[in-house]
Amino acid sequence: MRARTTLALPTLTGTLLFLFIPLVLVLYLRMPLGLAPSILLGVLLMAGHRFIARPFMLRELQRRCFWCGGAVGETPLDASTRSRDKLLQARACSRGCRDSFLAFGRFVSAVRPVVALLIFVPIAVYLANAAVRIAGGSLIPIEVARWLFKVPIAIAVGGLSVAYPLGRGMTRPPAIDFPVHNLFLLGVRNTLWVFRLVGLWWLVSWVLWLRF
Ligand SMILES: [Zn+2]
Repeated sequence: MRARTTLALPTLTGTLLFLFIPLVLVLYLRMPLGLAPSILLGVLLMAGHRFIARPFMLRELQRRCFWCGGAVGETPLDASTRSRDKLLQARACSRGCRDSFLAFGRFVSAVRPVVALLIFVPIAVYLANAAVRIAGGSLIPIEVARWLFKVPIAIAVGGLSVAYPLGRGMTRPPAIDFPVHNLFLLGVRNTLWVFRLVGLWWLVSWVLWLRF
């Protein structure tokens, strides 16, 4: 009972902090406040988010399972991994969670350049295009820019979410050289479900857009 009550607040906080990510995506892609205010607010939230999300992760790291987001209990298992040349002292609540998390870390380490290319280049191109538009110019039509953003990211996160079990057969040390706090907020397992669903949604809507 105690474990449940002690984890209810971190789970809620983690979920609320995670919601900033879809909020930034809505601001970038739908521009509900108009072009300039939406993009500027999105960039501000994206840049500022880590200053709240990362301390949250570091505070809860020893208490929450990095894989499932549940309480680790009295005898947590070590699931430490490298993250941007630092040791991340991740914990897991069971052997299954630990093995899945380490497999994920090995796979991410193996495909790091591809994932970085598929995520960071589209974000940079999209924001550069938006900046040109804000300045009154025109580079790529907004509709096309949206797909140049969504399709590579959908392939990256969707691919990661289905292919990470290949990491079980890898011997390289696990290393997650991405903003790892974003994966902690819901737990990696739940985040991968978001990746699967959003990846599928974006790819299907892209195919429909191409056809009609
Ligand atoms: Zn767990």
